[in-house]
Amino acid sequence: MKAEYKYVKNNWDNKYADTLCASERLVYRSNILGDDQRITNTGGGNTSSKLMETDPLTAEQTEVLWVKGSGGDLRTSKLANFSSLYQDKLIALQSIYGTTEPNGVKTPVEDQMVHMYPHTTFNLNPRPSSIDTPLHSFIGAKHVDHMHPISFIAIAACKNSEALTKEIYGDSLAYLPWQRPGFDLGLKMQAVYQENKACVGINMGQHGLINWADDDKACYELTLDLIEKAGAFIASKDRGDQTFGGQKYTSPSDAAAIEMTTDLLPFLRGAVSQRTRFIGTVHRDAAVLEFVNSVDAQRLAEIGTSCPDHFLRTKIKPMFVDWDPESNDLSSLKSLIIEGLDQYRADYAEYYEACKHADSPAIRDCNPTVILIPGLGLIAFGKNKSESRVTAEFYNCAIGVMRGAEAIDSYIGLPRQEAFDIEYWLLEEAKLQRMPKEKEFARKVVVVIGAGSGIGKETALRFAREGAHVVCADLDGDAAQVTANEIEAEIGIGIGIAGSGISGCGNVIASGIDIGDTASIEACYQSAIYAFGGIDVVALTAGIFLAPNVDGEFSVKQWELVYRVNSIGPYLVADAAKSIFQLQGAHLKSSVVITTSVNAVVSKKGSVAYDSSKAAANHIVRELAVELAPYARVNAVAPATVVKGSQMFPRDRVMASLAKYDIDYSEEESTEDLRIKLAQFYASRTLTNEPITPEDQAEAIYFMSSDKSSKTTGTIFNVDGGLHEAFLR
Ligand SMILES: [Zn+2]
Repeated sequence: MKAEYKYVKNNWDNKYADTLCASERLVYRSNILGDDQRITNTGGGNTSSKLMETDPLTAEQTEVLWVKGSGGDLRTSKLANFSSLYQDKLIALQSIYGTTEPNGVKTPVEDQMVHMYPHTTFNLNPRPSSIDTPLHSFIGAKHVDHMHPISFIAIAACKNSEALTKEIYGDSLAYLPWQRPGFDLGLKMQAVYQENKACVGINMGQHGLINWADDDKACYELTLDLIEKAGAFIASKDRGDQTFGGQKYTSPSDAAAIEMTTDLLPFLRGAVSQRTRFIGTVHRDAAVLEFVNSVDAQRLAEIGTSCPDHFLRTKIKPMFVDWDPESNDLSSLKSLIIEGLDQYRADYAEYYEACKHADSPAIRDCNPTVILIPGLGLIAFGKNKSESRVTAEFYNCAIGVMRGAEAIDSYIGLPRQEAFDIEYWLLEEAKLQRMPKEKEFARKVVVVIGAGSGIGKETALRFAREGAHVVCADLDGDAAQVTANEIEAEIGIGIGIAGSGISGCGNVIASGIDIGDTASIEACYQSAIYAFGGIDVVALTAGIFLAPNVDGEFSVKQWELVYRVNSIGPYLVADAAKSIFQLQGAHLKSSVVITTSVNAVVSKKGSVAYDSSKAAANHIVRELAVELAPYARVNAVAPATVVKGSQMFPRDRVMASLAKYDIDYSEEESTEDLRIKLAQFYASRTLTNEPITPEDQAEAIYFMSSDKSSKTTGTIFNVDGGLHEAFLR
């Protein structure tokens, strides 16, 4: 072990580790390995320990392989993410495998062996085992780490990888050329382990590093030592400003690049979302810009992604757009993207046709998931935010790998067929088929305006639970942030470490917004676009009720404010969204839902400004439905008075209303009790006798935004408990 590491960080804490049992130490080792992006990528790599356990069947001691199972991530893994298998039974599988003809890599028996692992399960552990299980089992050492370190893969992905391994590591590391992980690779590693006692690990060509020790801390430190060596070797050969052949383009300022990217994103999202919608992540840092602006970027991008684990997300290669950022010309960038996409899709279809087997799964989406643009950076797309962040992270890793490999030698990609056999591996397909069904709004971005309280808050939560990416917007930005924090605490942030600025977010962000101010609306939408790539739904719940004073006076200023918030605001938010929907294209059906009120059609005393502003909003909705077609449907949800949780019902208004309707109350009662009293009174006037809640409104807004109401536009949908005076005719 080195005293000081420069290219990794030693996070082992003896004091803490000593408090843990053997299996907990494995989890601990895994978490601290996974915590350093230079050691392994999200979801990549696995660890194992062979531990003595009491066999529940015999009460005797038996050796159990604990190995990180399928799915999950080393950084966040718990013991439940590890499978536990009888080591002697795993070894016994070698005789079945050995006597089956034919055997070897990619023979049918190799994949059949995967279905045998569940038979070796110790103690009914339900975690499915990883495809890498035989690698860990067949190497005899007690502890094994398999990592995807950027600096090490740089060596593994070089043309002269074997010679470089010898030069850097001498006899301590063996070299195995690329081979798809599985039973046969496990047997090859077993042979290395048994025949070469000086060897402590293997360079897995074009893949990663695997190394072992009989002590867990020693195994961890060995992993660090080997990666440190790779990092130091690459640094000694760094090409400085000649990296990637030098710089071809110059980046605009961050502010200009962010503005340009935001202008581009809805168009780009629409273009790649031909078959199915995607969520975007923008990554723009010095390392990405050095690559995308370089002379060699186009050539290297064409070679493809470095690590086979990445293919399912990054596809075999990214799309590089050879555009000069100094031209500052967005329309030429768009034309290059359209041409590039046509070429990319044709290349992908050709790759599929050339490499497919008789039993290959059907061709998947042909669009790129990683787009590289000089001056702007990297834009990644995935089925949700978490996936797009992982995709961006993986290509960041690839850039690091190419940087290292090109410094010390030449970067090489996997042969196309090998890449295909990973991407379309039947075992991978089975894994995809086992994934839970996507939630209804999983690929959508919803801006909820008014999300700081009441109906808006409930609506934001309703969409988030359906998998939506939610922008919680409110005049009160702090209240919007509180809602966003609460939602994030409930749904989590997913995985993947990438994304610049707000684009590094989870499924929910917060934004201040003044719906009477076009610049403020614009700024809110720009945050949504940079965070997620576009907008699919705008749900507006914000509104204002101002009452005349005791003498019945109502000022012009009050009139103006009521109309600004209740009538002009809804028009402005829909109108600003229109241009975004147009850029995305009519194939991405979008939706606007505006909250009006049943008061729009019920005449009474004391609320003329409010009622008439809502009547105007109803008709604005109908006209917007015409204006926004065919890009978006525009509908309204019209509540009757929702008292519960409403900002529009402070204590004094509740008391004034109770007094107005001659309902008994006392000053001692809590605001909530007074609200319940008032809500019950309102309920008693309805046909259903039920109070109207924020949840009722949220459900209606969700329904009007969802594909369940895809044939409905220009409609006012009452959610009022049944007020016959408000029936529309
Ligand atoms: Zn691997």
